[in-house]
Amino acid sequence: MVYPCPKKDFQVAVVGGGVCGLTCAIALHRAGVPVQLFEAAAKFGEIGAGIGVGPNAVQTLDKLGLLDAILRKVNPAELKDRYFSFYEGLSDSHEAIYRYPTLPEDKALGIHRAAFLDALVDVFDPSIAHFNKRCMSITGSQTDPKRLVIHFQDGTTHEVDVVLGADGVKSSVRDFVLEGKDRRLAFSHTVAYRGLIPWTQLQEAGFKIDASEQPVCIMGPSKHFILFPIKDGAIINVVAFAARYDIPIGVGEVNEKVQWVEAVNKDVLFKEYEGWGPDVEALLKCMPDKPGKWSIHVVHPPLESYVKGRIALLGDAAHAMLPHMGAGAGQGIEDAYMLSRLLGHPETNTQNIEAILEAYSRVRQPRAQMVWEGSRYVGRVYDLHGPSGPTSEGLRKDIGEVWGPVWHHNIEADLERAVASLRDNGTFATSH
Ligand SMILES: Cc1cc2nc3c(=O)[nH]c(=O)nc-3n(C[C@H](O)[C@H](O)[C@H](O)COP(=O)(O)OP(=O)(O)OC[C@H]3O[C@@H](n4cnc5c(N)ncnc54)[C@H](O)[C@@H]3O)c2cc1C
Repeated sequence: MVYPCPKKDFQVAVVGGGVCGLTCAIALHRAGVPVQLFEAAAKFGEIGAGIGVGPNAVQTLDKLGLLDAILRKVNPAELKDRYFSFYEGLSDSHEAIYRYPTLPEDKALGIHRAAFLDALVDVFDPSIAHFNKRCMSITGSQTDPKRLVIHFQDGTTHEVDVVLGADGVKSSVRDFVLEGKDRRLAFSHTVAYRGLIPWTQLQEAGFKIDASEQPVCIMGPSKHFILFPIKDGAIINVVAFAARYDIPIGVGEVNEKVQWVEAVNKDVLFKEYEGWGPDVEALLKCMPDKPGKWSIHVVHPPLESYVKGRIALLGDAAHAMLPHMGAGAGQGIEDAYMLSRLLGHPETNTQNIEAILEAYSRVRQPRAQMVWEGSRYVGRVYDLHGPSGPTSEGLRKDIGEVWGPVWHHNIEADLERAVASLRDNGTFATSH
């Protein structure tokens, strides 16, 4: 494919090459914005787990011209309306108590994370990637006060006009947006045990709930399981959550020096879910011998803005959230779309970059924060702490159509609003 030649009079650096940074760098490059990507690791990589790509993320990837590359990694028929069915984890019943209502156009996907990342790497221009480049700090340029200098751990630097921090929940770029005031990083008091299990193994172990076609949520007090199929139903992605609700998010110290992911003995799992029903018992038997335990951290309290001057944040760096709506990466993909359309806009230039980034933040912050709050809310419901109580009727009422605002969102209207605000404040010409 031939992309427009870079015409912009400014250069962008994306810090972090996870799903959101890569999507953003590809989108900017395709929009004709000169961009370089700096990744701390020696190569692009993702963890061995699945990821759910919701309808809003699917549509945004399609608008960016990236959906076909992703579908080449799966059976295209896997792109379909995907509805959760909800089960009571402590009971002997294999019957769902609620099935989420989807529309035929709610096309979503479950995919192995590595396949997702590989699809992006396949269409990425490797000449703009730089590895082993851990951003440590950002300073102003000595020759041009408007430009920025990124300082890397290896002692090298890179001078640029715009820095986009896509460096994940522990973001170092966030410190420069917050001007070092605090980290806005909190432990969610939720842990997650993850595993990938062949569907045949689960069946052989006596697991009766059908998880090979559609996602499943198995609920219990302060704990729940999420299962969804990947690899055309051959593999089931399993995440077992356990949360504490007696400590609010934000209370307690965050220790960034210790590992937030550790391998634990399987006994820990049996203890954690003691007394659950036969399906969970069968499921636990199939979990890996040493499942990974994730201490889930989030950005909290929320950032008022994702931008400071010519530095902006996207993805988990801006709004890492609880994963209960399977929507965190989707929000980062929406960020990438908005940044690429605004920075690639014909009227964007070196004189108005700061106003452009402010417009980005104005539309993205409320939307991503709504999803952040929704993810926390729905986690409470799965864990039987919903407002209507832990009855079947209460769960139905509280889950309702909770994904509606996340999935059915008009991102073009957001873009139009951002551009209109730039016309209103005189950044863009009003005669268009
Ligand atoms: C259990 C669980 C399940 C989830 N399920 C889903 C789901 O189904 N659907 C969904 O949409 N989301 C889901 N999420 C959320 C999703 O995983 C994240 O929102 C997404 O991966 C964030 O991508 P990112 O690119 O912003 O950050 P990351 O994936 O964290 O990537 C950051 C990158 O930056 C690099 N980096 C870090 N620091 C520096 C530095 N200083 N300098 C340079 N590079 C740096 C890192 O090496 C990494 O490559 C889930 C999360 C969890 C914990």
